[in-house]
Amino acid sequence: MRAVRATSWRHMTATEQSDALKVFISNRDSSCEECGEELGRKAWITLAGERGALCLACADLDHLVFLPSGDATLTRRARKHSKLAAVVLKWSRARKRYERQGLLVEEAALALAEQECLADGDARARRQVREAERRAELDREYVERFARRVRELFPGCPAGREMPIAEHACRKYSGRVGRAAAAKRFDEEAVRLAVVAHVRHAETRYDDLLAHGYEQRDARAEVEDAVGGVLRRWQAH
Ligand SMILES: [Zn+2]
Repeated sequence: MRAVRATSWRHMTATEQSDALKVFISNRDSSCEECGEELGRKAWITLAGERGALCLACADLDHLVFLPSGDATLTRRARKHSKLAAVVLKWSRARKRYERQGLLVEEAALALAEQECLADGDARARRQVREAERRAELDREYVERFARRVRELFPGCPAGREMPIAEHACRKYSGRVGRAAAAKRFDEEAVRLAVVAHVRHAETRYDDLLAHGYEQRDARAEVEDAVGGVLRRWQAH
C-alpha cells in the first residue's frame, strides 16, 4: 500500500501511536498480499511489516465490528470490554494527517457497552439501526445451509455455535468481489477453515496474543495445539 507507506507517522497523535493495532481505509486500489484478493478503493487493510497490506480476513480481524467515532462514552466502554481492538484511520488529504474514524471491537464488547449506555436513548437507537443493518446484509439461506454443514462435520460443536460461524462466513464472502464471492463454498475445507477461525478467537488465547503485539504467525503457532484439541472434540459425536 504505497499511499500509506509514503506517509509519515509524525502527524499522528500520541493516542493513535500507542494503539497496538491499526486498520487503514486505503485511498487507492489495493490488493491483499496474502490471499491476492483485489480489494478495490477504500478497502480496509492492515499493514503487516514485510508482508505488506492484508485484508481484514487474512489479518484475522474480520470478526470485529466497526464503531464509528462520535460517542466518547460508548467508545471508551467498548474499548474497555474488548480484548482485541483496532483503531480505524483514514488519511485526510486536506489536513495532511490520519484521522480516526472509529474503532473495531468485539461484537460482545460493543453489546455490553451499549447495555451500559442504555439509559441513553441515542445509544439504544443506534444499536437498533446497527443490528438491522447487520441482519439485512446476511443471506439467510446461505447462513442456514452453512450452519447445517458445520453441524454435520462438527457434531460435537456446542449448541448454537454453528450460527455465528456461518454468519461470519457469509459476511466474509458477501463483502467481496470476484474470486471469493464466486466461491461461496460449502465443501469440507471451507467449513473447516471457518470453524478454525472461530475456534482461534473464541476458544484460545489467540486474540489476547494479538492484542499484546504478537505477530500473527507466532500467535497462530502458539495456539495450534489448543485449536487441534478443540477440533478433535467437536468432530467427535
Ligand atoms: Zn486477504
